[in-house]
Formats: sequence, C-alpha cells, structure tokens
Amino acid sequence: MYDVAVVGCGPVGALAANLAAGAGLRTLVVDREAEPHPLPRAVHLDHEMMRLFQGAGLVERLVPVMRETEGHLHVGADRGVIRYLGTAGRPRPFGWANDYFFYQPELEDVLRDGLARFPHAELRLGVELERLDQDADGVTLALRAGDEPSAVRARFVVACDGARSRVRKALGIPLDDLDFEEPWLVVDAAVDGPVRFPDLWGVPDAADLQRLSVMVCDPARPATVVPGRGNLRRWEFMLLPGEDDAEMMRPERVAALLAPYLEGVPHRIVRAATYRFHGLIAERWRDGRVFLAGDAAHQTPPFFGQGMCHGMRDAANLAWKLDLVARGVAGPALLDTYQPERDPHVRSVVTAAVEAGRYICELDPVRAGARDAALRERARQGAPSTAADLIPPLREGAIARGTPGAGERFVQPRVDTPGGRVLLDDATGQGWRLFARGAAAFGRARAAAGALAPLGVTPVDADALADDGTLARWFDDRGVRAVLVRPDFYVFGTAADDADVLVAAAYDALALRAPASRPAPLVGVSGAVAIHQGEQA
Ligand SMILES: Cc1cc2nc3c(=O)[nH]c(=O)nc-3n(C[C@H](O)[C@H](O)[C@H](O)COP(=O)(O)OP(=O)(O)OC[C@H]3O[C@@H](n4cnc5c(N)ncnc54)[C@H](O)[C@@H]3O)c2cc1C
Repeated sequence: MYDVAVVGCGPVGALAANLAAGAGLRTLVVDREAEPHPLPRAVHLDHEMMRLFQGAGLVERLVPVMRETEGHLHVGADRGVIRYLGTAGRPRPFGWANDYFFYQPELEDVLRDGLARFPHAELRLGVELERLDQDADGVTLALRAGDEPSAVRARFVVACDGARSRVRKALGIPLDDLDFEEPWLVVDAAVDGPVRFPDLWGVPDAADLQRLSVMVCDPARPATVVPGRGNLRRWEFMLLPGEDDAEMMRPERVAALLAPYLEGVPHRIVRAATYRFHGLIAERWRDGRVFLAGDAAHQTPPFFGQGMCHGMRDAANLAWKLDLVARGVAGPALLDTYQPERDPHVRSVVTAAVEAGRYICELDPVRAGARDAALRERARQGAPSTAADLIPPLREGAIARGTPGAGERFVQPRVDTPGGRVLLDDATGQGWRLFARGAAAFGRARAAAGALAPLGVTPVDADALADDGTLARWFDDRGVRAVLVRPDFYVFGTAADDADVLVAAAYDALALRAPASRPAPLVGVSGAVAIHQGEQA
C-alpha cells in the first residue's frame, strides 16, 4: 500500500510528490500523458515557490531556468500609470526575489526528474485514473494504461488532476463561482531585443519596463505584456464582445496585435491560444482520505500570476500534515485543518485577482477614466506596494492563534556560516524549527523542542545567527523571544518569553499523539524546564 497516491503530474502534482517522498512517504504519482504539457500556461512564480524548491532540494537546478523580475505596473486609459507594485531596490525578507518568470515545460521537467532521487517514489506516465473507492483503511484507485487496467491501494490521495478534475467530479464537489469569466488571447513569442511600449507617463524612476509585468488597461483592448525566460515574452489580449476565438488566433490578427510592441524588433511567434479566465473555488477540498489540490481545487484569473503558486502552497500545506498522520505522530484531525487554512488564503488572492480583472477588463471609456482616478487616489493613500503584500497570513488551522506573528510566512535572511553567507534555511536545516533569542529563552526552547520530539523540532539560537538584523527586527516587532516555524515556512506561533506555551498549543492544534514515554505533554514540559533551570544554576 502506498502512503500517498498523487493523481496528475502537472506542476502541482509533481511538487506534491517530491514533498511527500522527501518526507519519506511511499509515494505514487500517475499522469495520463507521457510528457508534460508542451506549451507554457504559467509564466510567473514568487519567492515562496523558490523557498519551497529550496526546501525540496531542487532550487539549484531551477535557478538557471528562472528570470528574476521586478513586479507589476498597471497603465490607465490615458497611458498614465495607475498602480505600481514594484520590487526594484526593496529588501528581500524571504530570501528570494518576489517575482520570477520561467518556461513551464522546463519547470515541470525538473520537478519530474526530482522524483528519481527517491527509491520509494514511483512515477507512472501514460496511466489514467478511472475511478476511486475509499474504505476505512485506504483508497483503491482503478488505473488504466492503454488497454491495461490495474488497481493500487493508497492511504491518502492528493488529486492534482487539473481544472477539469475527474476526482472532483466523481466526488460530486461543486465549484463556488466568483462570477468572473473573460476570454483572452495568449501569445508567446521569442523576441530578439527590447519590447517597445507606447509613450507612457508617470512611470516611476525605479521601474524598468523590460523587467515588469505591464498591464495596459486600455478600454479599446486591455492587454498584458510580461517578460519571460531568456528571450521569451508573453502578451495577453482581452477578446472584445463578438470576437471569434479562431479568427483571433490567425497569424495576421496576432501580428497586428503585436505590431505596436514589436515594430522593427526581430521575433518569432511560438504560439497563440485563447483561454477563458475564471474565478472558481471548490466547496469542499477533502472527502475522507482524498484531497483536492491545485487547479482541481481552485482557478484564478492570472492577473497576479498566482494560479499555480496557490496549488504549490496546497502541496506544501498537505505534505507535512500527511507525513505526521501517516507516521502516527498526529491524529487524523490534523488533516481537517487543510481547507480552513488554504481556502481563505486562496479566496483572498483570487478575489484580489478578480477585482483587478474587473477593472482591467473595463471597456467603457468613461468608467475607465473614473477607475484611473480612483486607483491613483488609492495609490496616494498607501495601497499595498508589492504583490507580496497581497498574500495574506494564515488566520486559522494548525497555528497557535492569537500569538503575535502566528500564520505569517517566516523571514529568511542570509546568515554568515564558516562555509560563507547562505540562506537561513540552508544554515539551520529545514523541518520544524524553534528559534529563540536570549540565553534563557534558548534554554527553554531546547527543553520545549525535547517535549516536541515526535515532531523532530530543531532548536535554533537566533542570537548566534549573524544576519543583517532581519531576525532581531522580526522578534522585536512582535515583542517575542521564541518562534516555532512549520515545515512549510509559516509561523506556528510565538512566545513572549517561555516556549513552553507553544508545546501545549502544538499538542492541541496539531492533534499530536503523546509518545508512550511521555504520559502527558505538560508534565513533560515542566520537567524539561526544571532540568534546564538546573543546568543554568
Ligand atoms: C494563460 C494562463 C496563464 C497563467 N499564468 C500563470 C502564472 O503566471 N503563474 C501561475 O502561478 N499560474 C498561472 N496560470 C495557472 C497555472 O497554469 C495553473 O494553475 C497550473 O498549471 C495548474 O497546475 P495543476 O498541476 O494543478 O494542473 P495541470 O497543470 O492542469 O495538471 C493536471 C495534470 O493531471 C493530469 N490528469 C488529469 N486527469 C487525469 C487522470 N484522470 N488520470 C491521470 N492524470 C490526469 C493531466 O494530464 C495533467 O498533467 C496560468 C494559466 C493560464 C491558462
């Protein structure tokens, strides 16, 4: 029996399988296609994905196929800037740049190849899931490879089978429709030289148009121009009412749309295809032992380039929880925290993308003018300044709610080590980490880590880490001395002084099972603290 079967080896399924196998789970991943989808859909990802790839041990292979960029710029009907979410010259609290562009088939190849590192992971391509049946002990998956049917058993299933998810449909899970559907033409081109932009005004000094995702909110034809990896560039053009998909994909029409941007610039069209952009979220993300992730669970208009990123966050959220439950460290109640954590998180960003989509897709020139004025006013009042600010913290689930910073993504400065300056996660190792500041707090953190031994918590003396002051600021801003960080880099909780309180909170919020040698969590904790105090004396 597999611990986890992943259905679909798109980017989300491939990452889910890497993370599950990386945690030591016996993992099967199947995909009905033999090769990754040959054409890119996603082109952008953010720092959080880079940190997940870093954690999965794949980032060194991915950095060479990523192009670092500098955020988003929205231009109004009058060609003046109405919104700037730029990152040029800003700090990188999470270690990586906020925006990267890539070529999706390359990313998927690296993720698939990553599975070969694990003898306990199996990738079966050209294998389609036909149906699944669950019982008290596991799930039976009926598979088919050509004419050959087969069946496998798994304790848990992660359905990453895309927007038309057969699993979601078989489970009868409806989609919550956020009432956004617009047709767009997507064009990828290989371009030898800088893209031309019509005369724009109000462009901030720091903004380099060649390194930004530029949204031209022109009511005559809303369009996006984004940088790509290497010499690739992407354009997205809204189809106007009455326009026909096939007609708009004809080479002459595509060339006419690109002409203002590429006059005199050598280029080659790689593809042109139309898509319907939606805002859809599954009403239930779990049915017993089966979990929906990625596009199977949600779809977003791509205006902030977050669709796949949401799915990768789903994968990271599930991986450590499935691991703890599969190993018997946590009870199955931990898995109930998946949707309460992920759904509001996704909903908030999809809602922001839908809201942006509504103003971007405005075709009435008068209303577009009013929109431009309103957005400029909003910018003056200090609206979010980078796209990273749009991603909210977790507000409930497996966190110590109410403790300062709980649910936030933990920072990742670079720190000095004998081997050179490296990112925090590489310096400390990954998994559960309990950072503490001050000798007394660190001593208590070590005791607390002992009390949380089933989780495998690493205590880290934050004062011993030579960074640029990011860590100290993080602690000081929240008035805390200890922080427990989850394997998906979200903060479980913090303590003003004594990490003890986090032990009790973890046993509760993670449905941890007390090990046989540990009769009751709190007795163990106070005992450990006493030992530590003795050590100090
Ligand atoms: C034009 C466009 C631009 C986008 N831009 C971005 C962006 O910049 N950034 C971003 O983050 N996101 C973006 N997205 C969204 C992103 O492409 C998707 O969110 C992402 O590809 C979803 O990944 P997935 O693994 O969930 O699903 P998919 O990539 O659809 O993979 C599903 C896999 O499941 C397999 N499968 C399906 N059914 C079965 C079955 N029964 N048995 C076995 N296998 C099965 C399929 O063969 C496929 O390989 C964009 C989307 C579009 C359309």
